Amino acid sequence: MKFNGIKFVFLSNQLINMKKIEHIGIAVKNIVEANKIYEALLGSGPYKSEKVESEGVETSFFRCGESKIELLEASNPESPIAKFIEKRGEGIHHIAFAVTDILNEMERLKNEGFILLNEEPKKGADNKLVAFLHPKSANGVLVELCQEIENK
Ligand code: ZN
Repeated sequence: MKFNGIKFVFLSNQLINMKKIEHIGIAVKNIVEANKIYEALLGSGPYKSEKVESEGVETSFFRCGESKIELLEASNPESPIAKFIEKRGEGIHHIAFAVTDILNEMERLKNEGFILLNEEPKKGADNKLVAFLHPKSANGVLVELCQEIENK
């Protein structure tokens, strides 16, 4: 590619925009009790608690340096969190990566052979657009991509 006489070389034909691990999601049976445990662990309480009706979850978020911990409790028996706990018990549910351009990243990962659980980004907790990759395409780990929604 040439621009103003300067030659640019791209290693890949698509830019990769994974920024950092944004948060780790933990499935819990009782979020009130879990909040106390994580407050004791991290030294401060959740900075946000939020119900995401569309996902059937009650969430709370803790900061730990640059990263966050998201606790998730099922808000109804059909919730994916209820099913996860039934099958595997409480524990790490997903790893979320912050991306700068979620649509591009979804397209890139699809081309890399990952299975997307949603074809379109959806509104998740904590003011984010989110998309998930099937655990079977990522060595048993449910991967979340998230992009901060800009408030104007
Ligand atoms: Zn999450």
